[in-house]
Amino acid sequence: MQPRVFLLGAGPGDPGLITRRAARRLGEVDVVLYDALVHPDLLALARPDAEKVFVGKRAGRVSQRQDDIHRRILEAVDAGKTVARLKGGDPYLFGRGSEEAELLASRGIPFEVVPGVPSPIAAAAYAGLALTHRESSSSIAYVTATESPEKDSASHDWPRLATATQTIVLFMGLRRLEALMETLIAHGRDASTPAAVVERASLPSQRTVVGTVGTIAALVRDAGLGTPALTIVGDVVRLRDKVRWFDTRPLFGARVLVMRPEGQTDGIVERLRDEAADPIVMPILRIAAPTDPAPFARAIEKLSTYHWVVLTSANGVDALFAELSRTGRDAR
Ligand code: SAH
Repeated sequence: MQPRVFLLGAGPGDPGLITRRAARRLGEVDVVLYDALVHPDLLALARPDAEKVFVGKRAGRVSQRQDDIHRRILEAVDAGKTVARLKGGDPYLFGRGSEEAELLASRGIPFEVVPGVPSPIAAAAYAGLALTHRESSSSIAYVTATESPEKDSASHDWPRLATATQTIVLFMGLRRLEALMETLIAHGRDASTPAAVVERASLPSQRTVVGTVGTIAALVRDAGLGTPALTIVGDVVRLRDKVRWFDTRPLFGARVLVMRPEGQTDGIVERLRDEAADPIVMPILRIAAPTDPAPFARAIEKLSTYHWVVLTSANGVDALFAELSRTGRDAR
């Protein structure tokens, strides 16, 4: 049975970090249901005629309930369509992807899951923290701290979690950072343990604040960090001084307006991204045929009488060869 629904990991932010399989699947489906953490450029990988529906929650708006997403998936499948459920990072890591898979399995709808690069893995790489290190960390705990403190203390065994692993990664919970850090300290984590918060990991707008379990909350408040962000606690944070590479690049974070005509921006956009800059594509000109084609046609007709033809742009080359082939000529 062919899968009808694809639960796809979009990766952590940088659109280049989607897997090849997820990119291919994205290009095959009829409907794409995507979350807030998905980079907008990834939608261009879908078919132009595919329906693209935003189903994420955004700050200040009423969150679209998971029921609504489930309903949309089932409706599309009933209508005979294939669906990509595109989620930030990995679909099964604190992403409710597993609930969607359960739904599909219970209805007997064939599906496929394509893992994605999880945000903590990207945060470690791009902020230069690693998550493990032979000398300082051989264990990691991934902890989600979003909801109410009551629910967290009910579902997390803080007395053990606080000291069980050398590295702790806290998802969400930025607004409650101070209380979370106090909880760690109350349960035996040393207040001087290094801690970092990484916002928008892997993007040119990435920001990282480094402190200790005791100081990080105030530092993050002063810096005004927002979501999405991860808190990483442990000695691995010290590595940043040595293995930082991304946010030290000369063009890091620079917003660069790319004004080239549509269809001619790919190379430059990629190169800017490689330099950690943030390209903003805004074509301000369009290359079109001359309103009066006669002079150009005349010049082409007597092309063989010129000693030199100087072409000053890729557009000129395209126009010249298009006209040559249109009139049954070639490069000779
Ligand atoms: N499935 C996702 C996690 C979803 S939960 C994954 O695999 O990463 C959403 C939380 O993930 C956010 O609140 C934040 O804590 C974290 N997150 C996701 N993308 C992030 C990014 N680019 N930078 C920092 N944190 C991120």
